[in-house]
Amino acid sequence: MDHATPLEQALHVARALVLADLAAGEVADADVVSLVEDSVTHRRWWVEQWPEGVDYLAGLVAQDVKDALLEKYGRWPLCPVCAHGEPHALDVEPELGPDPHWVCSEAGVRVAAVGGLGPVFHPGR
Ligand SMILES: [Zn+2]
Repeated sequence: MDHATPLEQALHVARALVLADLAAGEVADADVVSLVEDSVTHRRWWVEQWPEGVDYLAGLVAQDVKDALLEKYGRWPLCPVCAHGEPHALDVEPELGPDPHWVCSEAGVRVAAVGGLGPVFHPGR
């Protein structure tokens, strides 16, 4: 495998960040990892059509995986901020931009960078 090009590096980083968040939520089983691979494959095609979108890959892969998990498994990642009411998933912001974060749209709180959910779910570490 050749990860030398900026595009491949960006895809590699996006994949690693989303896998880290899945691992933090302890949902990184083989089926879920394959959802990440599907998204990376799709986004590789997408960014080849639109190279300016290379900085947006991490947010897009996170959003793809979130949507795919909602269909197959349920809400992910669950909001760790709101103690009351219905459990709900965090959203990715910006939807199409660099430096993506997980946010709780109910409380209007930035929870973590994409790839940074670990410390939120394991605060003692
Ligand atoms: Zn919330």
